[in-house]
Amino acid sequence: METMNMISGDIKMNNNNLLIENGKVNKRIVRFSAQELTTGQEYREVYENATGKYSALLKEVNSFEGNEGIFRRLIENINNAFWLMDLVTTKIIYISPAYEEIWGRPCQFLYDNPSSFMIYTHPEDLPKVKIVMERLQITGENFEEEYRILRPDGSIRWIWVRMFSFFDNQNKVYRIVGVAEDITRRKQLEHELIRLATVDPLTSTNNRYSFLERGQTELIRALRYGKPFTLLMLDIDDFKQVNDNFGHHMGDEVLKRMVSKSMATLRETDIFGRLGGEEFGVILIETDAVKGLVIAERLRANLAKLKIKTGKKTIRFTVSVGLAALKKGDTSIGKIMRRADKALYEAKNRGRNRVVKGC
Ligand code: GH3
Ligand code: MG
Ligand code: MG
Repeated sequence: METMNMISGDIKMNNNNLLIENGKVNKRIVRFSAQELTTGQEYREVYENATGKYSALLKEVNSFEGNEGIFRRLIENINNAFWLMDLVTTKIIYISPAYEEIWGRPCQFLYDNPSSFMIYTHPEDLPKVKIVMERLQITGENFEEEYRILRPDGSIRWIWVRMFSFFDNQNKVYRIVGVAEDITRRKQLEHELIRLATVDPLTSTNNRYSFLERGQTELIRALRYGKPFTLLMLDIDDFKQVNDNFGHHMGDEVLKRMVSKSMATLRETDIFGRLGGEEFGVILIETDAVKGLVIAERLRANLAKLKIKTGKKTIRFTVSVGLAALKKGDTSIGKIMRRADKALYEAKNRGRNRVVKGC
């Protein structure tokens, strides 16, 4: 039987350790029991630190004992997976049945392969999960992350995981308790909301809001790194006639084909968006006005070549383009848009189907 010091002093909770400040050794006792301490808890170990103070480690199992049945029923009937892991033995001490539902693997599999917790993390999320996991094991800092896991059938689930650490008498993390909740449905709704707010439903390109948001971000980046930046504004010429001659649904088809052709002409890093009606914007990243003019001209020419069949007839159309490059003093995308809009107006005035560079 282990002999321990009975202590008295000012008692404080510090993480899971009980800290006894200004403590004194009164007598040696065989078993350290609740009655000797005023808080009424039982403690597993008491130790003295270098400064002569004492701390006691909570006897964590005892506090659970009488209520174990209740806790077990609770843990086993909630949808969240709950687990207890020992870092010394690197073994899972307990995992609740919800693990099987969320991860799609038997609990026994995890008992046999404790590291599979990490293995089945989505590769794109693994680096960030590893960082917080290491931090938890070294410093005991609580873990809270949303990330994806891979199930055996190839499907992906989003989980929200929180982990908490327990310290030993060397103040080292020796056990971890974790809770995981399946948040896949919430994530799907979140993505759907983002899609509805940022994507044009007809053409599936950025809507005006998203184009301006992304454009502003790129503008700030260009200013910070002193990179060039060019904006194009495109408007389909005589589009009203397309609708009048071929019907509104064919007008819609033209808009869709116009977007896919433009995207195929531009680089993946360029930002394309529908500003409204038959008007579109392009942001050419790291591109000055000279290069921008070449790209705008290629885009105009490619769109003029596009043929859209409807019955026996073929629809062809052209675009007018206004170009504006980043200038000193441009701090908002709106300012550049106004210059591109003026140039576009000029292109229309000069007879359409052309590119005009703004001042
Ligand atoms: P301009 O060369 O001066 O640009 O002439 P335009 O006919 O293209 O310009 P106008 O502004 O007179 O007409 C634009 C037309 O675009 C009118 C509108 O009905 C049509 N339009 C706007 N949005 C849509 C859409 O989503 N689908 C279809 N089919 N037509 C649209
Ligand atoms: Mg038009
Ligand atoms: Mg227009």
